[in-house]
Amino acid sequence: MLLVCAVTMLVFSLFGPNAVSTAGIIASWLTAAVLVGLALTYHLTSPERIDRRGGYVFIALIGVVLCCGMNWITNDPSAGGQAFLAFPVLWAGVHLRRAAVQVVTVAALAGDAVVLFHLEPVGYAVSDLSFFGAVLAVMALMLTRSGETQDRLVAMLKEQASVDSLTGLVNRRVLDEALTEALTTQTRPLGTSLVLVDIDSFKSINDQYGHPVGDDALVHIAGVLRSVVRPSDAVLSRMGGDELAVLLPDCPADVAARRAADVLDAVRAAPLQLRDGTLLAVSVSLGVAHAPSHAEQLEELYAAADTALYAAKRAGRDQVRVAEVR
Ligand code: GH3
Ligand code: MG
Repeated sequence: MLLVCAVTMLVFSLFGPNAVSTAGIIASWLTAAVLVGLALTYHLTSPERIDRRGGYVFIALIGVVLCCGMNWITNDPSAGGQAFLAFPVLWAGVHLRRAAVQVVTVAALAGDAVVLFHLEPVGYAVSDLSFFGAVLAVMALMLTRSGETQDRLVAMLKEQASVDSLTGLVNRRVLDEALTEALTTQTRPLGTSLVLVDIDSFKSINDQYGHPVGDDALVHIAGVLRSVVRPSDAVLSRMGGDELAVLLPDCPADVAARRAADVLDAVRAAPLQLRDGTLLAVSVSLGVAHAPSHAEQLEELYAAADTALYAAKRAGRDQVRVAEVR
C-alpha cells in the first residue's frame, strides 16, 4: 500500500493540483521518498518488533499526516484529495484493534478539519467535513465490527477444536501439545508425569444400561477427575472412547502415583446415580508413567503409561499401576 501511494504521489507531481506549484512538486517527491523509505523499513523489520513499538498505529497516523499535509500544501480540499484519508483508516480498520482504529479515525477527522477550515469558507468546510467524516466513521465502525465478529468466531472454532463436547475436557490434540511442551521445557526439574484412566468394563455398562447411561458415566468420571486434580496444575483430557488422561507437569512419579490413588479412591467413593435414583458403582484402572524415569519421548511416555494401565487391567481392574523403571 505504501509503494502504491508512493507511485501515485510521483504521478501526481506531474499532473493536477500537486504539479501547479514548485512547493507541490517538491512535497510530492519528498512524500514519495518517505513512503518508499517506510515501505523498506517495514518490509525488513519483523512484524513482532514493529507491533511491540506501536509501528502499526504509527504508520496509519503517518498516512493521515501525509494526506493532510499534501492537501494543505497543494491547496486541495477536493473530494479526491480527501479520499486518500480512506487509506490509513481502511488499513487500521482491517489490521488494528478497536482503540487504535478510533485513534486513527479521530486523527483523520481532525486533520481533515484543519485543512478544510484553512482552505475553504466555513460553510463549505462544515459540509465537506460532515460528508467525508461520516464516510470515514462508518467505514471504521463497520470494519471494526466485522473484525471483532471474525475474532469471536475464530475463538469459538478454536474452543470447539480443542474441547470434547461430552465431558468438557480438552481433547487428545491439546494434550499432545501440552505434553510436547512439558517434555521440551528445561525448567521442569521434577520431570513430567502422565496418568491414563480407563473405565472398567465400560462396554457392559453400555450394553446393560444403554449408551445414554454410558455417556453419563463418562461425564461423571470426568467430574470426579476435576474434583480431585486441580486443573491449574494439570491438563485433564479425554483421549477417546472411555480413556481419560491427566498430564502433571513438574511432578515426580511417586507424587503422580499418589494423585492416581486419590482419583481411584474418589471414583470408588462416588457411584453414579442413575435416573431412577439407584446407584451404579463405576470403577477405573489407572496407569502412571514418568519422564525421564520411564520414557524420554512423547510416544514412549504414552506407551509406558498404556503398559502400566493394561497391567492394572490384567491384575483385576480397579487399581493403579506405575510403569517399570527402564
Ligand atoms: P476394559 O475394562 O478392559 O477397559 O473394558 P471395556 O469394556 O471398558 O473396554 P473398552 O475400554 O475397550 O471399551 C470402550 C467402549 O467405550 C467401546 C465403545 O462402545 C464405548 N464408547 C466409546 N465412546 C463412547 C461414548 O462417547 N459414549 C458411550 N456411551 N460409549 C462409548
Ligand atoms: Mg475401558
